[in-house]
Amino acid sequence: MPLQDDQKLRYARQLILKEIGGKGQEKLLSAKVLVIGAGGLGSAAISYLAAAGIGTIGIADCDRVELSNLQRQILHTTARVGEAKADSARKFVGELNPDVKVELHPGRVNAANIAALIEPYDFVLDCVDRFGTKFLINDACVLGKKPYSHAGVVRFSGQALTYVPGQGPCLRCLIGSVPHGATCASVGIVGAAAAVLGGVQALETIKYLLGAGELLTGRVFYFDGLSMTARTAEFCGRDPACAVCSETPSIVSLCENAAEYEDCN
Ligand SMILES: [Zn+2]
Repeated sequence: MPLQDDQKLRYARQLILKEIGGKGQEKLLSAKVLVIGAGGLGSAAISYLAAAGIGTIGIADCDRVELSNLQRQILHTTARVGEAKADSARKFVGELNPDVKVELHPGRVNAANIAALIEPYDFVLDCVDRFGTKFLINDACVLGKKPYSHAGVVRFSGQALTYVPGQGPCLRCLIGSVPHGATCASVGIVGAAAAVLGGVQALETIKYLLGAGELLTGRVFYFDGLSMTARTAEFCGRDPACAVCSETPSIVSLCENAAEYEDCN
């Protein structure tokens, strides 16, 4: 559908980019993107996806806004403490950009429901902070042939990669199984660091939808905000023994593997 006059004004600064233009903007407006997690990463990602005019944004989050979230989760406000995060995020998006249709998924994402959840979307963002759920999203996207952006952040630093079916390795190729490790609740996090990685995820999403530039496929982006350094490391293709994306995967059913996704959180 051709852009209306107010849309030409709203998106003027990106319409002049050769990678976007009118045709690219129409692609963004007709795209469907699912963000799992409306926390620190999700706040940055959802804000910039909505501002850019992604036509449909699904938001999956089962938590409620807590006062301790507000230091980094800028979708939410002091007045909305106690509200469902999904509802709070919808209010933010509604005020920012009426072009965006928001689909809420307020239940807990699990091995039984994630395949149907991701199916209607063009691209998925892993913006959760639990390792088990990150692996659940990875495995569901690999089995469902769905491109997605992974990111993780703790303290002042984080990393991101993008999975595209048939093109590159998955999270399990890099980290074989759910690790026992740090979460932001246990070690702390600076909100602005989450914004950097969530912004990277929004940018990867927009590039994927436009077919522009080079994605973080087969590469990992590392950011360290304390030393203010960033680097992108190639990782050597798919792990031929990967449990989910190899030719002979051992994980073929999410429900059969459900115990791993519940661990270590
Ligand atoms: Zn893999």
